[in-house]
Amino acid sequence: MDSALCWKLLCVAAVSVSLEGLFRYWWKRRKSVKEVLFFPVSLSCTEGVLNPGVPCLCPLPHTDSDLHRLMRRLMEARRSLELCIFTFSSPPLARAVLLLHSRGVRVRVITDSDYMATVGSQIGALRKAGVEVRHNQSSGLMHHKFVLIDKTLVITGSMNWTMQAIQTNKENLLITDDKVLVSAYVKEFEELWNEYDPATYDFFPETDK
Ligand SMILES: [Zn+2]
Repeated sequence: MDSALCWKLLCVAAVSVSLEGLFRYWWKRRKSVKEVLFFPVSLSCTEGVLNPGVPCLCPLPHTDSDLHRLMRRLMEARRSLELCIFTFSSPPLARAVLLLHSRGVRVRVITDSDYMATVGSQIGALRKAGVEVRHNQSSGLMHHKFVLIDKTLVITGSMNWTMQAIQTNKENLLITDDKVLVSAYVKEFEELWNEYDPATYDFFPETDK
């Protein structure tokens, strides 16, 4: 191969590498997420989010809502899903979480010890399926309601994962991939995860002995 051709090939390679870099930068900027969801929403079928393209013949209306938008965000998880949710009793949201777990997404749940035992709680079903769950053990509620998707997206707001909250209450959720905000929530999750490690349970404090 002569040297002129060699140079030409090198130039083409250099241009494609820098174009790829530009494309990646543009794609990342384009993907910047700033979204707000409001509830309540009226009851409608969410099967389409879990099984896209499969027609559903159930009698519920098949209209899109902010619950669908929330579930579509959850279904974007490819590596990890961290839930830090005070009360979790919503069957459609539990179905989404179980589906992600069955796909090999690492799901970790932090919840409140009192409310996880209430009627309709989905925590038992998640644990039965092998999802890791930890809860607070002292006074003071574990009152957070936030979710981390692949540690790159946070969903946070007032809403508990209950049908009451979804269909009746005035609630809001903010979704962002802002790195500073997401990393603050990742830190809080990891700190609580360690604090609520069952190995550190202290049911019989020294003072009681
Ligand atoms: Zn349906």
